[in-house]
Amino acid sequence: MSSNTQPNKKGLLIVISGPSGVGKGTVLKEYLTERADSVYYSVSATTRNPRPGEQNGVHYHFVTVSEFEKLIEQDGVLEYAKYSGNYYGTPKAPVEKALNEGRDVILEIEVQGAQKVLEKMPEAVSVFVMPPSMTELKRRLVDRNTEDEQTVKRRLDAAVDEMKKAHDYDYIVINDTVDSALCQLRTVIAAAKTTAKKQKDFIDEVILNA
Ligand code: 5GP
Repeated sequence: MSSNTQPNKKGLLIVISGPSGVGKGTVLKEYLTERADSVYYSVSATTRNPRPGEQNGVHYHFVTVSEFEKLIEQDGVLEYAKYSGNYYGTPKAPVEKALNEGRDVILEIEVQGAQKVLEKMPEAVSVFVMPPSMTELKRRLVDRNTEDEQTVKRRLDAAVDEMKKAHDYDYIVINDTVDSALCQLRTVIAAAKTTAKKQKDFIDEVILNA
């Protein structure tokens, strides 16, 4: 039986956080390529400007502040947060739809949003991606070359604050190399799918048919 055919009906909600520049996106892209049919990656809405190469509807839904505030008013987001002066939020309907269809859902969100999701949906599994060191994180942020010096400094300060919250997550993945991080992520998700809590309905069903 593959890890995606465990007999529970609802998909697994996977909340992933980690400081900007840690390389979550690269690891997730690989994971999603492997599991294209069974995993839904939630595309967030944001009021920040697109970076070079980012496409509307693929990387984010790029919206104006008033469009975002309307989404909040209409209860259209599962959670939202302000980060680095911009709004970021998870559109609610597609997440619920995918979970109900039995697909796993990945939310790549920052720590405040993650906390809100876990309060609402405690059955979710939370994963924090750490850099191997602070020096390496700085190197990755500078090499990305998409932000000015002041923004890089602001993001590094934010990274330290975010990493202090890593203690609250269920699992830590260290992104030293993409391959090792991917391997850790696969293991973590497979483990989360097989907890007794997640398999409660299955256990009860087997006992009921005894
Ligand atoms: P970036 O601007 O680098 O794409 O993202 C900045 C931070 O916002 C990252 O930590 C990213 O995970 C987080 N983020 C992206 N989408 C969402 C969202 O829908 N909600 C929340 N709370 N954070 C998000």
